[in-house]
Amino acid sequence: MRLSNLFGKTLRQTPAEAENISHQLLLKAGMINQLAAGVYSYLPLALRALQKIETIIREEMDAAGGQELQMPVLQPLEMWQETERDLAFGKGLFTLSDRRERALVLGPTHEEVVTELVRRNVQSYRDLPLLLYQIQTKFRDEPRPRGGLMRVREFGMKDLYSFDADEECLNTTYQKMITAYKRIYTRCGLDFVVVEADSGAIGGKESHEFMVLAESGEDIILSCSKCDYAANVEKAESVKPEGKTGEMLQMEQVATPGRVTIEEVANFLNVPEIQTLKAVFYTADGEMVFVAIRGDIEVNEVKLKNALGCHELRLATEDEISNAGLVAGSASPLGLSGIKRVGDPSITLGANLVAGGNKPDTHIRNVNYPRDFAIDLMVDIATARAGEGCPVCGAPLIAKKGVEVGHVFKLGSFFTERMGATFLDRDGVAHPILMGCYGIGIGRLLAAAIEQNHDEKGVIWPIPIAPYQVHLCPLSSDNQEVVTKVESLYTELTRKGLEVIFDDREESPGVKLNDADLLGMPLRVVLSSRSLKSGSVELKMRCKKEAVLVPLDGVSREIMAMLPSK
Ligand code: ATP
Ligand code: MG
Repeated sequence: MRLSNLFGKTLRQTPAEAENISHQLLLKAGMINQLAAGVYSYLPLALRALQKIETIIREEMDAAGGQELQMPVLQPLEMWQETERDLAFGKGLFTLSDRRERALVLGPTHEEVVTELVRRNVQSYRDLPLLLYQIQTKFRDEPRPRGGLMRVREFGMKDLYSFDADEECLNTTYQKMITAYKRIYTRCGLDFVVVEADSGAIGGKESHEFMVLAESGEDIILSCSKCDYAANVEKAESVKPEGKTGEMLQMEQVATPGRVTIEEVANFLNVPEIQTLKAVFYTADGEMVFVAIRGDIEVNEVKLKNALGCHELRLATEDEISNAGLVAGSASPLGLSGIKRVGDPSITLGANLVAGGNKPDTHIRNVNYPRDFAIDLMVDIATARAGEGCPVCGAPLIAKKGVEVGHVFKLGSFFTERMGATFLDRDGVAHPILMGCYGIGIGRLLAAAIEQNHDEKGVIWPIPIAPYQVHLCPLSSDNQEVVTKVESLYTELTRKGLEVIFDDREESPGVKLNDADLLGMPLRVVLSSRSLKSGSVELKMRCKKEAVLVPLDGVSREIMAMLPSK
């Protein structure tokens, strides 16, 4: 490709709107263009990188036994109502209606459609296991699109769905997919970790995410400093420090004028936060829920949502709280009834806590569970934090930021039971098929690869996903010999199957070399009047500091050797 023909111009300045490195570099290198919030065009260079990632994914999915197909983007809303996932996705679902007023959805994922397909086509245990996948555009009306390709509303995803006859087979398939995923990210040049992930309201089933560590990541990962435990904070468990224990004392009312937050109350009464009990009110699918948790711990809303099995969870408003006859800031589980009470086990780690008094400016000392109040549902809803103990070995947990580039999930019979996708076993008995789903966001993977592979000058493409492998850069275009030699080298390299971008523009050496660094192809080949005097060319790997001078004669062999294709 001649750079003078390439669609997409490099920018001198870093665009002000770019929120992270990959966003900056993708814009600066002329690889993407925003059309609307979270909606992008991929220009030729970005598309080539995306296609290479897709090829790697296809190879690994096929090697693991996957069969590629393509399902529709347009899906009847009814199908989503059948599994109630219209409620689970809520406003994230893009909906529209056709000319006959039939409601449709732009698919954010394809569990329903694939289950429908399998329901019609699989009858017997002989048809299983079955692994179906596609690489296709997904639509999600994200509340906050951000970070360039990191969180968008229209994006390419590889989604594979597995169908197995029993748990053991599902486990085998699941492990096979984890292995395939590891190969994919390694081939794409990524340094990643596999973490335990939230499995949502579907409940109890295993789920893992593949995380690329990066400062710009939106996810928080807690990993053990000693063993290999690692989990998304949405799911992470931890061993919390115990509060003061001892004999349960008599409850005692104390005045706490104007003190509302845990911090204010704890300071005023001169007790550590660990000796307090926090009351938090939520609205879950329109119903008020009371939560009791130790004062030093934050509620993990993902865990709470799963425990309640609700679709929409938010903090209750002041009005909702007072309409229910409660006092925000001084609320307490004491004497509370007629409202669902959820407790976190942390309230049993220590005795004699300070809790709200259910009237303004009043708290109560020496509150103990279960002596003084009741809970309807006791379940872990605590946020784990760095420094707390690993749930496996007790060593301190460490927090890091990550980008979720893939997610694997054992769905079990959630969809197949609801949609009647069964198979007949050897004895002719019908069972629901067991499912798994496995997703990779292609654009997000590309962005994550740039987050991990760049320097202050630009992208440093890992060879397997680089748009082009060679950046051919003549510096003295007024020298006829340079022009002739570089033209014939371009022809030769291309003929040998190398992917070459040829900077044939009439630009200064400074501009050309800057652009070569910005675009970041793995190998830069420079020809100048000076190098030609000694019959040589300069080769430089983008990831290395030094360049080498090699004879022009036979340089293509040298170049091929420096670029192992995989
Ligand atoms: P997130 O928690 O980041 O919103 P998710 O858990 O909803 O993602 P999945 O349903 O697991 O996403 O989708 C599979 C993969 O698709 C994710 O691991 C991610 O790589 C990618 N992905 C999901 N949402 C987006 C998005 N809005 N923009 C780009 N990629 C996305
Ligand atoms: Mg996910």
